[in-house]
Amino acid sequence: MDGFYERTTKDSINIDPLQTGGKLSEAARRALVEWGDGYSVCDFCPGTLDQIKTPPIYNFIHEELPEFLGCDVARVTNGAREGKFAIMHGVSSSYKCEKKAVVMDANAHYSSYVAAERAGLKVLLVPNSGYPEYKMDPEGYSEAIDSNDDVALALVTYPDGNYGNLPDVRKIAKICRKKGVPLLLNAAYAVGRMPVKMKELGADFIVGSGHKSMASAGPVGVMGMKEEFADLILRKSERHPAKEVELLGCTARGVTIMTLIASFPHVKSRIKKWGKEVEKARYFSKQVERFGIIQLGEKPHNHDLMFFESEILYNISKKAKGGRFFLYRELKKRRIHGIKPGLTRYFKLSTYGLRKEEIEYVINSFEEIISKYTKTAENN
Ligand SMILES: *Cc1c(COP(=O)(O)O)cnc(C)c1O
Repeated sequence: MDGFYERTTKDSINIDPLQTGGKLSEAARRALVEWGDGYSVCDFCPGTLDQIKTPPIYNFIHEELPEFLGCDVARVTNGAREGKFAIMHGVSSSYKCEKKAVVMDANAHYSSYVAAERAGLKVLLVPNSGYPEYKMDPEGYSEAIDSNDDVALALVTYPDGNYGNLPDVRKIAKICRKKGVPLLLNAAYAVGRMPVKMKELGADFIVGSGHKSMASAGPVGVMGMKEEFADLILRKSERHPAKEVELLGCTARGVTIMTLIASFPHVKSRIKKWGKEVEKARYFSKQVERFGIIQLGEKPHNHDLMFFESEILYNISKKAKGGRFFLYRELKKRRIHGIKPGLTRYFKLSTYGLRKEEIEYVINSFEEIISKYTKTAENN
């Protein structure tokens, strides 16, 4: 069993967008051991998670988190998707609302669809602009909402998890407000990486992901809303009056919330350096485009998650030993992890949190790999 405890990729340079923002802070690493036992946070629970004063969960959920998210009321969930489901279900299944459709952007994450399906909502998609930028036109929300009398909620993905595009939420929010449809901001790739304030952007709900973007062990997430929706989304059980129904009474009841809280000072300070992260991403994109790895999505880019199209790597893969797995192997040899095995033509990556030298190293590695294989081809 020795090998079981060892994670072979942990000393690599990690460019997997899923993983770059979830690396634990030192404080969270300590919390992980200290609070690892099952229901460790429940020693002094008065009946609901958010009311626990020791450890300081109450303060986190009722003071720090709403301020951070720019909302009135916040909760900790088991992930962004659990937050989306709670909101969709709360909004739509409530006796106050007979509406049964949700409008969302074409770049929405699969978990938004699945949450809608589970909540029994029909999904109406707002199209993107297509190749190469895949941008969202806010006016599309207007059309989608008008196309159906049954719209209970709109959702926008900020940024989306494929191209890393940041849609104009303020404009979308204005449209939704005019039509009387509340707006949910799916900020799984934003909260904890970059500054984002729900109310400043005009949204009514926000969700974030602890294990994706808040340097936490997962699964854990955050959810925020305007005061006016709190009764609806956080309504209490008839039989168990302390328990919130949409949260099934309790959410992150153990070590995950403790890593979230432990990393919070680190997260608050790192979002101040967001400008540098965007600079690094743009630099990376510009450099790799020199050798035919072309960035799709918004340009210039505004996020560390980037999607690339690379005919050159694809062409190499047709002839290389090991076929389409050549890229994964070459990167692995150089201790670079995060592009899925087998991908060459289209892939995404993230430069979040990488040091300048690491970015240079990754750029040079791509250049080296391409030149190695194009040379071999010429010699043949
Ligand atoms: C990763 C991701 C999610 C899922 O987050 P969980 O916290 O794992 O549920 C949702 N939306 C987007 C856009 C994502 O990229």
